[in-house]
Amino acid sequence: MIVGVLALQGAFIEHEQMLRKLGADTVELREKEDLQHKPDALILPGGESTAQGKLLKDLDMFDTVKQWIIDGMPVMGTCAGMILLAEKLVNDDKQWLQTFPVSVRRNAYGRQLGSFITRAPFKGIGEVTMNFIRAPYIESISPGVEVLAEANNHIVAARYGKQMILSFHPEIGEDTRIHQQFIQMVHEKN
Ligand code: GLN
Repeated sequence: MIVGVLALQGAFIEHEQMLRKLGADTVELREKEDLQHKPDALILPGGESTAQGKLLKDLDMFDTVKQWIIDGMPVMGTCAGMILLAEKLVNDDKQWLQTFPVSVRRNAYGRQLGSFITRAPFKGIGEVTMNFIRAPYIESISPGVEVLAEANNHIVAARYGKQMILSFHPEIGEDTRIHQQFIQMVHEKN
């Protein structure tokens, strides 16, 4: 299995390391040419969503990536990746791929709680450690969206079809179970 990892900006290397530990091959998507070979799945990492979204457009990668997801390519978006996938941002007038029918609040925890770590249950896995870094959360969901995790009374992970979004950073640390769940999802027959 080859997982394409968007490598324009942010925390993509850590995702690659986790995926390789689990036996998946990875390819960095840095420019339009890298999209010539379609991967089996896609990771949109954390970082700065505005920078990533602009680069996707400036490098003429945006439409291809959006079409891949619309056509059913499994995707995991973490933190900034969640923001790129959200249909609506409640506190930002920008919009990006909009393939995941949720409303998301950017930098939702304010300045004081900008970064924190907590533990909470994740559907199908059990308790996991969650690293939040100037994180968004999901404010509302549409029918068909499955909640995977809540922390501090907010939805912080969800699935819709073969799309997964997470507010926190599962690529930090040694716990590979969320990436493993993603790989399982990639293997699932529809
Ligand atoms: N605050 C960032 C944004 O709004 C997301 C932070 C992250 O990816 N860790 O894009």
